[in-house]
Amino acid sequence: MKKNASKTLSDLISLEGKRALITGAAVGIGRAIALRFAEAGADLHLVDLDTRGLGTVRSQLSQFDRNVETHHVDLSTKENIDTLWEKLAGREPDILVNNAGIYPFKSFLEVDEAFLEKVMNVNLNSALWMCQHMIRRRLRKGGVIINIGSIEAILPFEKHLSAYSISKTGVIALTRSLAKEYGSYGFRVNALIPGGIVTPGTKAVAKELTQGNVRLLRTGVEFKLRLPLGRGGQPDEVARTALFLASDLSSYVHGALIPVDGGFLSS
Ligand code: NAD
Repeated sequence: MKKNASKTLSDLISLEGKRALITGAAVGIGRAIALRFAEAGADLHLVDLDTRGLGTVRSQLSQFDRNVETHHVDLSTKENIDTLWEKLAGREPDILVNNAGIYPFKSFLEVDEAFLEKVMNVNLNSALWMCQHMIRRRLRKGGVIINIGSIEAILPFEKHLSAYSISKTGVIALTRSLAKEYGSYGFRVNALIPGGIVTPGTKAVAKELTQGNVRLLRTGVEFKLRLPLGRGGQPDEVARTALFLASDLSSYVHGALIPVDGGFLSS
């Protein structure tokens, strides 16, 4: 195998011969990651509970002539995740992207057990169980894990997102503890910290929340004013950073939290 310094740029960025599993791949950031990874040469396992969206992304991927398997899974239970990995036996991914997530708003005083459980199960526990399966299966081979965090974990900006912030803070802790524990087994584990990315999820939230709500309208304006780049981000701008982390371009990047937020956290 060539040492990285003697590899060409196209060797370094290539995912040829790799298989990547992406959760929440039906729309938004997950879909954009699927498209860039396929372009870079990866075969794909795409996981989501949105069957229609998975069908759409599969047809968009047909231009790349890769092996694409879609899996309709609700990641909110460990049982479903265990079943998925049983199905994957012999076709385990080299690269795992834990991207599926939800960001429902609820006042902290109204958060109940069911609400908290749902947010934690989808955003944090699913990533944890996915990582456990990946590491168990590939203990002698290693691999790449990319977890998707959020700027809200570092700087809570909008009210009523405490459960979400807590879940995404857990994703960061998960990333760093696995980086510490499994780097020497050949795993590279990193987190992306997106913020202000225009996706079907954020568009739906923005629409729902701004209807007649002056406070939220103001938050939207303040958010934008704080962005040094002065605009929202595109899912593909997160996907390109994910490709950097998935590929040998980032062979010495490990345990890192990389914001893709137009400079929000730095301003
Ligand atoms: P999105 O809502 O547009 O897409 C999320 C995808 O996850 C959907 O396809 C949805 O069906 C899937 N999903 C949700 N619950 C699931 C479940 N239980 N099982 C399987 N799939 C499930 O979201 P997005 O904006 O593209 O965000 C993707 C990730 O990035 C999320 O983890 C989100 O928290 C994080 N993030 C996004 C932003 C942003 O600005 N868009 C900012 C910070 C963090």
